[in-house]
Amino acid sequence: MGEKNWMNKVVFFTDITKIDDALENFKIDNFSGKTVPIKLHMGEIRNKYFLKPDLAKAVVDSLKKVNAEPYLYDTTVAYPGLRSTKKGYEKVAKIHGFTEKKVGCGVVIDDTGKKVTVEGRDYEVGKHIVESSHIFGLTHVKGHIQSGMGGAIKNFGMGCVTKETKRAIHHGSKPVFTKDKCTYCGICAEVCPFSAINVKESSWKICNRKCFGCGVCVDACETDAIINTDANFQYLLSCSAKACVQNKNVIYFNELKRIAKSCDCDPTLNKIICPDIGYIISDDIVAIDKASIDLINNVKSDIFEKENKVSPLKQINFGEEIGLGSSDYQLIEI
Ligand code: SF4
Ligand code: SF4
Repeated sequence: MGEKNWMNKVVFFTDITKIDDALENFKIDNFSGKTVPIKLHMGEIRNKYFLKPDLAKAVVDSLKKVNAEPYLYDTTVAYPGLRSTKKGYEKVAKIHGFTEKKVGCGVVIDDTGKKVTVEGRDYEVGKHIVESSHIFGLTHVKGHIQSGMGGAIKNFGMGCVTKETKRAIHHGSKPVFTKDKCTYCGICAEVCPFSAINVKESSWKICNRKCFGCGVCVDACETDAIINTDANFQYLLSCSAKACVQNKNVIYFNELKRIAKSCDCDPTLNKIICPDIGYIISDDIVAIDKASIDLINNVKSDIFEKENKVSPLKQINFGEEIGLGSSDYQLIEI
């Protein structure tokens, strides 16, 4: 929302009926008369912890009260499955209860994008997002295999771009090995959360099937024998998020409940790693994710790093570095 030189407000509450009071802190009246995509993840089939239709309805009702015209919005995914096509994702949305009848607005699944350049790289941002001046980011906060935590930055950086850009971000963070620089110390193999690397005497091997491109090995290698194909995953995520939200009016709502180890795309059993905390709202994407990490750390210290072996703070630091937002915030409890 432009340059700011004051500390960001992050409003915390536990009772959803306070949502309108919370939103009053963020010039919600400016959304009046606007068509507003509510960017959210409507859950992978068999995932239990994704954001529920009742919460989406609360947001829809609040936006309607200020005469905005909201609709639920997400993009198709790059991996195989129902959510990889518009039709398939619409079906999943329906199965999970995101219907006009239950939520009070329509659902749009986007499969096309427009190029936006950030920090010298091109990102294909969902067409509806590019064409909207006012956006609502509705995020279920949980862990993530590559970025430690998936919050608002992830919701936009990965969730608001086309399949091609999603693939490019995933591919760009995979490690590239240079034999001549390797001392075969084995540290990369030790730190890899997925046992994707095998080092023996003068042999270094990677199992690409196991590698998720988290970049932990790249950070640990002291000789630069492994580098990212393009850049760190969380860096690319922050840049991609900036491509989606820069110069837009965006309000972010993070739900800190059902905080699971891995993301809402995970169809496996998954597990809850932190008790429910509540809800936070801000108009700064970096502040809201930093506040999410801090609130979760207060209850379960460094839980994302412990569970996923990747620090989620990187996306915060990268986000600040590229001017996506600021991690300075004032928490206001209502
Ligand atoms: S950490 Fe670097 S130097 Fe050590 S084995 Fe891995 S790639 Fe080679
Ligand atoms: S990028 Fe992550 S998953 Fe891939 S080899 Fe390195 S540490 Fe393992």
